[in-house]
Amino acid sequence: MRLIGLAYLCVLVVALAALRLQDGTEAPPALVPSPPLAAAVLPEPAPESNRVDLAAETVPTAAAGAEQPSRETVTPPVRRRRRYRRRPNRIPNPPTPEEWVPPVGPVRIALQAGHWRANEAPQELSGLKRNGTRWQNTPEWEVNLEIVHRTAAILEGLGYEVDILPAVVPPSYRAHLFIAIHADGSNDPNASGYRVASPSRDVTGRALEIRRLLEQSYGEATGIKRLPASTRRMRNYYAFNFQRYEHALHPMTIGVILETGFLTSGKDRQVIMEDPERAARGIVEAVTAFSVTPPPAVGDDQ
Ligand SMILES: [Zn+2]
Repeated sequence: MRLIGLAYLCVLVVALAALRLQDGTEAPPALVPSPPLAAAVLPEPAPESNRVDLAAETVPTAAAGAEQPSRETVTPPVRRRRRYRRRPNRIPNPPTPEEWVPPVGPVRIALQAGHWRANEAPQELSGLKRNGTRWQNTPEWEVNLEIVHRTAAILEGLGYEVDILPAVVPPSYRAHLFIAIHADGSNDPNASGYRVASPSRDVTGRALEIRRLLEQSYGEATGIKRLPASTRRMRNYYAFNFQRYEHALHPMTIGVILETGFLTSGKDRQVIMEDPERAARGIVEAVTAFSVTPPPAVGDDQ
């Protein structure tokens, strides 16, 4: 009996050991592959430049396949625009180009340094906060403001009244001409060029003329190449949108926006950061050539 009992115990111990061994060899492979796989799939789609290629590579994986369409169909900016559209139209019947009249007083030019003091934005423009591009430790607004200061100095020397404006425009701001100064940025260090845009809805009927002058004179003065396509964001710039925002240009203020170049481009930085006087001269030339804003010392029609 003792022997039988001992043999039975031995069999039991051997069987248990075998089971343990099985657990020990099978369990780890079952657990190990999934975390490394998940880790390999998840961080890779992150780099923006390669997103499309990587997404294509991960399509066969069920999890990645499920993620990818949602990533492509989700376009947050559209949702935001819808929210803005609900705002009431402040000026349902704006004047027509035929009704345009210049403001009274001396020729007044407004130069807006894009993103400057954007942290002071009121509720209606709260989206302005923490916007703008940068190059290393230099935020865009600093570059914009330097160009604005130099432009203002030349214009004042010619006899113009100049208002230097921050990101937030005074309500229904009135001037003969408003120029918003910005700089672009890109993940692509080869992206280079300047662009000019006039409002998508220009009730003055005169913005196109200054836009064309600026497109020509800025390129000649700086040697930066012109990008022919303006962006929708430029054409619908918040300061142009008097129908939606209180802090916007008066409908009769002629407005234009200039992206002076790419802060992320070494070539463009040579002008806009290292030689902003050239950028300023390009802007001044357009102002003096514009039929609405001839130099006060020369023009005698104001
Ligand atoms: Zn900007």
